[in-house]
Amino acid sequence: MIELIIGRESGVENPRLAVTQNGQTQYFGTPGSVPKDVSRKHCRIQVGADSKMVVEDLTDNNFIYINGSDCKRKVDVSLADTIELGPSKYRLDMDTIIKTLSAKQSFSIKHLEAVYDGYQKEKFDMQVKQGKLNALSALPGVLSMISIGAAVFLQNQNIRPWAIILAAVFALVFAVIRYRNATIVPLKTRRMDDAFREKYVCPNPLCGRFLGATPYKELVKNRSCPYCRSKFTE
Ligand SMILES: [Zn+2]
Repeated sequence: MIELIIGRESGVENPRLAVTQNGQTQYFGTPGSVPKDVSRKHCRIQVGADSKMVVEDLTDNNFIYINGSDCKRKVDVSLADTIELGPSKYRLDMDTIIKTLSAKQSFSIKHLEAVYDGYQKEKFDMQVKQGKLNALSALPGVLSMISIGAAVFLQNQNIRPWAIILAAVFALVFAVIRYRNATIVPLKTRRMDDAFREKYVCPNPLCGRFLGATPYKELVKNRSCPYCRSKFTE
């Protein structure tokens, strides 16, 4: 759990934004960029291990606006939300704050190697399986056609009904395999993608963003998160 206390820099004529984490304060913005109606301890932002952010008003009469509307004491937010403080709506640049706080931190990403490789293998296996199922479905398709041909052209009245039954059975098998391919495979693929999306994320709890566009080897080579700039080690 990461906890940030956010407010106006104290003891100066032209305050900047003060962000305190573990008793250490860092300042953001140019002098005078933060209006006086932002309190010295205006709000607390907590970020959990799952990267969920909670904004909490630290006094009863502070103003916090989330996406333009007045927020009650405590509210869940995401990085996409706009957070504004005080009646004059000073806008918090969470992206810059997180990048600055994260740049000094480093995280091991070793566990992401198995996640990435596992996903690639699963995806490949799924494609092979789908190809096999498609090839397999051709067989009952062809057998069904042959049975229809036999029913139409063979004059023998004893064989005819059997040929018609066979044609129907093969057509059914063909349809079942095709249906499986069309429904179960996309469902499994989606589940696989969802699990990957959940696990292949930046280990920095302040960030936690999905790193899907970057292969594991690339992450190791780049040595940092493309979003929060925290350092990655193996
Ligand atoms: Zn990150």
